[in-house]
Amino acid sequence: MKNKIIAEKSGVIDVVIIGAGAAGLSAALFLVRARRSTIIFDAGSKRISSSKNIHELLGFENKSPEEFHNLGEKEIVKYGGDIRKEKVLKIEAISNNLFAVQSTNSFVTAKTVVIATGLIDVIPEIPGLKEGWGKDIHVCPCFTGYELHNKKVVVFGLQDRIGQLSKFLTAWTNNVTVVTNQPFAPTWIKKLSAVDVQVINSEVASVIRSNGKLKGVITSDGQKISCDAIFVSTSMQASSNLASTLCKVDEFGFAETDAVGQTSRPGLWVIGNANDPIGHLAHAIASGTKVGPMVTDYLLEYSLADLIK
Ligand SMILES: Cc1cc2nc3c(=O)[nH]c(=O)nc-3n(C[C@H](O)[C@H](O)[C@H](O)COP(=O)(O)OP(=O)(O)OC[C@H]3O[C@@H](n4cnc5c(N)ncnc54)[C@H](O)[C@@H]3O)c2cc1C
Repeated sequence: MKNKIIAEKSGVIDVVIIGAGAAGLSAALFLVRARRSTIIFDAGSKRISSSKNIHELLGFENKSPEEFHNLGEKEIVKYGGDIRKEKVLKIEAISNNLFAVQSTNSFVTAKTVVIATGLIDVIPEIPGLKEGWGKDIHVCPCFTGYELHNKKVVVFGLQDRIGQLSKFLTAWTNNVTVVTNQPFAPTWIKKLSAVDVQVINSEVASVIRSNGKLKGVITSDGQKISCDAIFVSTSMQASSNLASTLCKVDEFGFAETDAVGQTSRPGLWVIGNANDPIGHLAHAIASGTKVGPMVTDYLLEYSLADLIK
């Protein structure tokens, strides 16, 4: 690789980025252009991979997630970034504020670590649901609402979010049915009724498909509701527990950070969906762009500390 930035003679890398999704690649682009030695580890599967097309990302409308990520990787490699298709298994804080990073094939010592490992949508165990994930089963109308204009949509999932999700969907379609066996607060009953959302008091037991095509859902009390698409409000959890051994995380494994992803541990940042579960691709890209200068400045201060002792 002709442009590869060589690690310092000590063998210590400036920065290890874990995750080559939108967030990790964006951080990497800044850092390789800041001429910092950078290794990016990636385990492969990305959150958006189940979708055919990207929406709501300027310049990439309707392009495939694969094309977006491949293009990003090429840009990083061009400036000397070292992308390794390896899963990181462990990060340890060692002496001199350094980090020992162990992946499936490498052992690297780094001055800084950026965790950009994304999140897991916890898909409910309902027959027929997983097959359509990212195709006819959706999480957010911001990405697919336009394509579902006035289509028949069923909503279910976490009670504290399905009122908002159902109301929001009416910006795109006038045919929204929410299925829940839990009561809505009186304000939500009024709001949903005002925007013509139909409420069915039951729970979704299975998804009906014919030749792979979504036909509707069956409720636990046997009602059949036909639909063209389903929106599920799922719970989410951090996709790796790497941060949990190094800094404070919440009950779902998401790190506690400041606005730019700085954790309670110097030299460690967490960005993208790994600390902003509702972030889109554009937000993930922005998180990488924000963290790049912070890491660069930290690295300069790290070297200065020795020089001005
Ligand atoms: C079905 C669906 C459709 C979506 N459609 C859109 C859309 O059209 N437009 C939009 O803006 N947003 C969309 N999103 C949201 C989008 O997926 C996220 O905003 C985006 O993926 C966040 O990027 P990220 O870099 O934080 O995480 P990811 O893209 O998930 O990247 C995380 C990376 O970390 C890697 N990783 C995890 N653990 C390890 C480990 N231990 N070692 C090494 N690597 C690891 C993973 O393999 C992955 O490559 C969609 C989400 C879903 C669920």
